[in-house]
Parts: sequence; structure tokens; C-alpha cells
Amino acid sequence: MKILTVIGARPQFIKAAVVSRAFKELRPDLSEVLVHTGQHYDANMSDVFFDELEIPRPAHNLGIGGGTHGQNTGRMLEKLEELMLLEKPDWVLVYGDTDSTLAGALAASKLHIGVAHVEAGLRSFNRRMPEEINRILADHVSTLLFAPTELARKNLLNEGVRSEKIQIVGDVMCDAAGFYKQRARKPIWFDALGIGKNEFVLCTVHRAENTDDPLRMQGIFQGLETARVPVILPLHPRTRGKLKQMGLALPSNVHGVDPVGYLEMIWLEANCKLVATDSGGVQKEAYFNRKYCVTLREETEWVELVDAGLNEVVGSNPEKIAECLQSARLFSSGEKFYGDGKAAEKIVASLFEASEGQGFAIPVVRD
Ligand code: UDP
Repeated sequence: MKILTVIGARPQFIKAAVVSRAFKELRPDLSEVLVHTGQHYDANMSDVFFDELEIPRPAHNLGIGGGTHGQNTGRMLEKLEELMLLEKPDWVLVYGDTDSTLAGALAASKLHIGVAHVEAGLRSFNRRMPEEINRILADHVSTLLFAPTELARKNLLNEGVRSEKIQIVGDVMCDAAGFYKQRARKPIWFDALGIGKNEFVLCTVHRAENTDDPLRMQGIFQGLETARVPVILPLHPRTRGKLKQMGLALPSNVHGVDPVGYLEMIWLEANCKLVATDSGGVQKEAYFNRKYCVTLREETEWVELVDAGLNEVVGSNPEKIAECLQSARLFSSGEKFYGDGKAAEKIVASLFEASEGQGFAIPVVRD
């Protein structure tokens, strides 16, 4: 069996790392062809993950990044179709909600290749987010939908996706958090900041809805300024660029640093006081590390954390951010919201089962 995996952005490298590892361990007979679309191309947004997480080098790198959503998706679609015709995979595996996810799912479905979508069924119900469009469309052309939670499954059923296509496997990021925990690494610059463990807020901001709006950016930084402890902010290249463009300076308690690798990020998550973020993945990682999360968005896909009182959605309102940063709640949850850390194993088993004709008829591209 041959799988063609399409990845392109930071969170996808992390998710694919655990699934690729499971393929190798459980089904060494399988061949996986990794395709990197080039969406994230900086060394600290891409190469570092391949090195640290021991992801095999991609067989193909399309070098497509830096354009608009339409340009990127269109160019990826064309290149991925060519590659799929060349490689003739039995399955195309896509992750999450980026332009690479959509292009991979669309190219494969038009060629009648089975599409498996990892992290299916997440919804913010905000169609102004490019990610929401990508995930809805990818879900609707997918053959096999791997949902992380029961709520994700319900979202899919509500949109008319057939229940036999959906499997709740848990969240591959829970697998990653468990597997790489032992390898977490303190960033080399940390001690020089003179900040103690559990005495800082870890913050990330990169969603277009924030970075493209000067008022929201100002609101977020005004809120962060009120934190009684320092803030460590690994700066996404887009955020750094936008701050420069807007002429916005970081408040004096906010330490902007270059993006860190995953092993450093999980060390920061394990050793911070609390997390403030607009990232999807970082919200869950806060929970895995038993840290309260202040979400710098108007809504979240991870509503179970909000319902459990472990995550507060505050948008960019400085007063609300200030209030939450100062009143960080104690963390208590016995719940395992995101599975048992074996999502990757379940995904591998399910792909094989489906290919053996137990449930799905997969149209495969032949010569
Ligand atoms: N991450 C990282 N270094 C950073 C910031 C984030 O390794 O400097 C990791 C983080 O631990 C998480 C993933 O990147 O696993 C989240 O990616 P991102 O926030 O870019 O995307 P999203 O999850 O919002 O799709």
C-alpha cells in the first residue's frame, strides 16, 4: 500500500511526525511518500521540525509559499495533481486546515484517490477564517474522516457527512505531547532572560484575524502589558512582519523571540505560569501541560476546554485579557478530552482496514 502525505505548515509537521512513526513501527511494508508544499519554508518554521522530530525528508518539495491563499492553493493543486499521477498512491493523507490540506484533498478527490483527513470535523463557525473554509471543503471531499472528539463527529453529521466515513481516534497532538515530553529542551536563551520557571506567560499570536488588524494587535499588547509577570512571545514570521509594518513596538515586559522548535516549545509550555494564544494547537498543549489558557480569539474549536473552565476566550479586549492574566485559575481536570495518545495507531489500523475493503470501496488511480 502506498500513502502520499501532504504537509506544508508547522502544525502539520508535528502531527505527521507521530503518524509517520506509527506507519514505520506498525506497518513497515507500507510506503509513505511525503510531499512538502513549501507553505512554511523558514528554517525555524520547517527544517527544525524534520530534524528534531525525526521526520523522513520529503520526497518532493513543491516550494510554493508566500502568495495569497488563491495563488498558493491553485499552484499546489496543479503540482499535486501531477505528483499524484506520477506516484499513484492508494491514499492521500492530509492534516488540519491549511491551504496545503485543501489542495491535497481536492487534487486527490478529483483523481478518485481515497482522501483521509486527520483532524476532521473541527469548526469555529466563523467563515471569515481561511482555516474554516479549508477544513469544511477538505472534510466534504474526504473518504475517511479522523475526528479527534465526539463534538467533531457531531459537527460532521450535522453537515450531512455519512457516519460510516467518520472515526473518532483522538487527537494526534496528544500522541505527540506524550511521545516528545521526555525530550523537551530549555531554549538556550532562557536563563539569560533572568526569568524563573512558572513565572512567565507564554504567548503566541499568528492568526490573520489578529495580525492583519492593527486595532486587535494593539488591544492584545495592551492586555499583555498588564501581566504582572514577563511574557515570552515566540514570534511567527507573519506577526513580526506585521508589527514592523504597523510600527508597533512590543511592551517592555514582552520578550519577542524567534520561533522555537517543538522540543523547546513544549519545555516553555511545561514551565510557564499560563498560556495566552490564538493558536489552535497551543490551546490543547496548554491543557496537556495543565496550564490555564487565555485564548486571543473570538471563538475556539476546542470548546470542551472552555466548558471545563480551563480556557477563556477573550478576543483582543485589553481589559478582559488583563483580568484573565491576573486571575489565572487553578487547573483541575480529570477528563481526557483528546484520547489516549494512540490516535496515530488507530489511524494506521483504520487505513489498512479500509483498504482491505472492510467498509470502503476505494477508487485507486491506475495506469
Ligand atoms: N510551535 C512551535 N514553535 C513556536 C510556536 C508554536 O513548535 O514557536 C508549535 C506548537 O507547540 C504547536 C504548533 O506549533 O504544536 C502550533 O502551530 P501554530 O500555532 O502555528 O498553528 P495552529 O495550531 O494554530 O494551526
